[in-house]
Amino acid sequence: MTKLTREEREAQILLSRSLGPIFPLYGIVERTPGILTCECRLGQECPKPGKHPRLRGYRQKATTDPERIRQWFRRYDHANYGVMTGPLTIALDVDVRPNENGWLILEYLEIGHGKRIPFTVEVLTGRGNGSRHLFFKTPSEALIRTSVDILPGLDVRAAGGYACAAGSRHLSGGYYHFPDEYSPDEQSVAELPDFLLAALAEDDHETVSVASHAPSSEFSAWPDAFPATRQPALPDAVVLGVMIRDPVARRYWNGGRRNHTRSEDDFALACKLAFYCCHRIEQMYRLFMRSGLRRSKFEEKRPGGNYALWTLTRAIKATPQTWIRRKRKRPSTATGAKKGRKPSPDTIAVLDLHKREPTLTGAEIAARLALPPKQVRDALYYHGRQVAENARTLIHSNQLAHECLGNSSLASDRRAA
Ligand SMILES: [Zn+2]
Repeated sequence: MTKLTREEREAQILLSRSLGPIFPLYGIVERTPGILTCECRLGQECPKPGKHPRLRGYRQKATTDPERIRQWFRRYDHANYGVMTGPLTIALDVDVRPNENGWLILEYLEIGHGKRIPFTVEVLTGRGNGSRHLFFKTPSEALIRTSVDILPGLDVRAAGGYACAAGSRHLSGGYYHFPDEYSPDEQSVAELPDFLLAALAEDDHETVSVASHAPSSEFSAWPDAFPATRQPALPDAVVLGVMIRDPVARRYWNGGRRNHTRSEDDFALACKLAFYCCHRIEQMYRLFMRSGLRRSKFEEKRPGGNYALWTLTRAIKATPQTWIRRKRKRPSTATGAKKGRKPSPDTIAVLDLHKREPTLTGAEIAARLALPPKQVRDALYYHGRQVAENARTLIHSNQLAHECLGNSSLASDRRAA
């Protein structure tokens, strides 16, 4: 965890002026030894510790004047500082949480578009888990709104918003800071690349335009047949990014064949698309028609539309069971359920009760069925898990988050480049 001296803190805050006007936030203090809390009167109860403004009218009081900022240094011993976003820069808040990885999404966008995000000023957040704020010049031609979770693990701070400045302290005890070579005195703020602008300015990822050559009468029947997932759709580039990383889908996408007939290849590609598009037929259709397997056969008439639609329908019906990586089940001695064998009647009873009354704890189920608690726990552990349902679940999964961090994150790739 990064510690900063008072001088270093102040230097970083003053450097942050080149990103936008600065104003003081409540800081993080240690009133009881070993317990860090917000400096405001809510203390431990504060919902945004160290992240909320300490002055009324902070928007008007925010300044880039070093003398004014030094006055605040003298007046508030422990203050954190915010940088107003919008006037000069916008901040992309790339989060690495256990179940969401913004770096992975950025990487998928890069892969999907075949372009890299340029070097720019970055702030490592005080959480010390690799989360960063990337600063870009505020684009003049498009409006970007401050929004949370615009894509999984990605927030945008733009007009009307602010980001914690380097030099601020996080509740975890670490300090926000400019990593070497990414601070404003070493690195200039980059323009927001077009593909990122498109992804961030997209008002609603839910709206997916239907390809012009798609038989629209057929589509009207789809939504009922395949209720769309509630999550917003991922942009095409993210889906393509995931597809191109997928060892199976990658080859089909590029038109390569594995030892199958062509219709099996089509079906495999359709299944992968169904999975990664969260079963969104229009997006799937659009991407299917753009794939390397595309050929005239796709236009041939089939029940419910053309060959492409027919394949996609069958693929949707076949997913997720066919295409989702499942965790290998280990045989459980407790339940007697060896590999390939049916679960025991006790296990079936436990799962059945758990399904009917999901709020029951393991101990309660054990009491009801008069079974040893360990047997119930094991039955639920080995048999009770749900399979992942779509790409978003996969993107959110711990495994990918760790894979990405382990494989040297995007940022360190770029540093090496
Ligand atoms: Zn507070």
